[in-house]
Parts: sequence; structure tokens; C-alpha cells
Amino acid sequence: MKAMLLRGPKLPFEPVELPDPAPGPGEAVARVITCGSGLTIQHVKAGRRAIPFPRIIGHEITAEIVAVGAGVTGLKTGDPVTAYFYLNCGHCRWCLGQLEPLCGDSGGNVGLNCDGGYAEYIKLPAHIFIKLPESLDYKKHPAEIGVVTDALATPYKVLRRARVKPGDTVAVFGAGGGVGIHQVMMAKWAHARVIAIDVAVGKFDACRKAGADEVINPHNADAAAALLDLTHGEGVDVVIDYVSSTATLEAGAKALGRHGRLVTLGGSGEPFTASARDMLNKEQDLLGSRYVSRTEIMAALDLVARGEVWPLVTEVRPLAEAEAVHERVERGEVTGRAVLRVAD
Ligand SMILES: [Zn+2]
Repeated sequence: MKAMLLRGPKLPFEPVELPDPAPGPGEAVARVITCGSGLTIQHVKAGRRAIPFPRIIGHEITAEIVAVGAGVTGLKTGDPVTAYFYLNCGHCRWCLGQLEPLCGDSGGNVGLNCDGGYAEYIKLPAHIFIKLPESLDYKKHPAEIGVVTDALATPYKVLRRARVKPGDTVAVFGAGGGVGIHQVMMAKWAHARVIAIDVAVGKFDACRKAGADEVINPHNADAAAALLDLTHGEGVDVVIDYVSSTATLEAGAKALGRHGRLVTLGGSGEPFTASARDMLNKEQDLLGSRYVSRTEIMAALDLVARGEVWPLVTEVRPLAEAEAVHERVERGEVTGRAVLRVAD
């Protein structure tokens, strides 16, 4: 099979010819149609996240099952699938409790700790594949459908985690990013008032189109003060922070109103200071949100199938152009998601 291989961090993709993978017991192999190119995997290419090399990266796939190994049930040749990002065990209390990202026996991530979707075929433990609903036309829209598992399902889960209600004011830090802009879209879908915060002025129009009622550029204005201004001093109901630097988390915590919820995801895990007095007096919640459950992916796919929301894919290019696409991802030039077309 043809694949794009990374031999180490900070190296270009190398087009290679590899043997087609064959499924072992409990595994399945799928033919990849498209694979999303988000910042998560660019972090690996740029050397900001260490993984074992050589590696074929990519996890936001639309694919068709071509072979199943011994003992596999529930999947057959021809089934359209996408993939769960975590190589979760499927058996522990966290997996069984629909909290798979917290799996106590995780093997890491698809495309990071095993080979992923930048190849004609992908082999995974069968339970990692998720069958696409029949109501989704994956042949017509493979690029959009493949990115639902992360770019759209992650924001969907955050809405639930933060208990976003119609009428809430939701501030999104990093709103111009690939997942951030989908968070804007999903918060609007949930009938919130949405305030987008980003330094990427070039993404402001896209944020507004995705549903932002207001945009704040923290280069020009103190973000916390601007959020308090926009809420007449009351503070926002929900802050969702895709940047999650010390500065953005502290700004978010300051801007939080009564019964406010602050959600951190992404970022580098730096500590930050929040007021315990505000947490107590205003009954605020500080929350982490880690990826999604399989159930939430299925719910997000269903939302797309019903036309409630539609993933924002602005660039689809052939697998051979992976290097050029990743250069644009690195420079923050992609609006929404870029996707690689692997096969027709
Ligand atoms: Zn588990």
C-alpha cells in the first residue's frame, strides 16, 4: 500500500510503499477514503508531542472495512466506518461506564501509538472502528464525515460536560482553531449566546459565520474585562478554553459569573490561579474535558446525518500533498479542517 511515513519529529512526510496490512485475531483492516489533518497530529510532526517513530499518523478517517480477523463480530467487509481516537481496552470500569478516554488500560492513540490513516489501509483492533449510520452519505461527503469523530464530537461533549443551556453566554478561547470553530458552531446550535476569542483576526469572519455573536481579540483588549463588559459585569455562564495557557485560563476564571463553568481542554497543562472565594460564593465549576465517549461520537454523527450541524472542511487535497497541508496547519492558515483524500 501507499503511505505517508514520518521517520521522526521535524521531518517531512516520506511517500513509501508498504505491505498491505492483514488482520490478526480481533482486528480489522479498512480501506481509507479520507483522513483529517488537525493540529493534534501536527504537534507530533513538529516534535511538540513525543511518540514512537516511524509512524503513519492520522485518525479522523472515513473508511470501508476490507478484512476482519478471527473472532471479530459486528463488523463485516464493506461496512463504512470511522475510528475512535483512543486505543481503549473496552473492558475496564471506565470503558464500560462510557468514559473511555479515562481507560485504565489504554494503548495510547490511533495514529500516534499505532499506525493511522495517512495510508491506503489501516489496521486496528476491531472495537476501535465505529460503524457509520446508514443515513450518512459517506461516499458523497467522506471528508466531512471523517472529522466528526474529533472536530465535531469533542465540542458536542463539552456542551454536555459544561451543561450548556439555551440562553447561556458561552465564551470560546481559541475559537478560530480547527476544533474551536466547531465549538462556536455547536454552542450556537445549543441556542447559546456565543463570544469568540482569538488572536487570529483572519478567522473572525469564519467565527461569525459559524455562529459567534461577538468576537474579542485579546491583543487589543483585556479578554476578561471585555467579557465582563459584554455581560454588564455579570460574567459569562460558560468559558471553554481550547488554548488553556495560564493567561487564558486565568482570564476565563475572572470572567466567569454566578454558577459559571470553566472547561479546559487542549493546551500544555500549565497551572493557573483561580479564586476559591469566587468558586464558593458563585458556585462555580472548574472542569476538564478529555476527548469523547463512543456514544457521543454516535450522537454527533447522528446530528450530522439529520442536518442539524455540518463540519467545516475548507480544504481537501490528495494524500501526496500531506506536507503542504501540514505546513498550512502549522501556520494556522486552515479555517476549520483540512482533509487528505486517500482514495476515491
Ligand atoms: Zn478500558
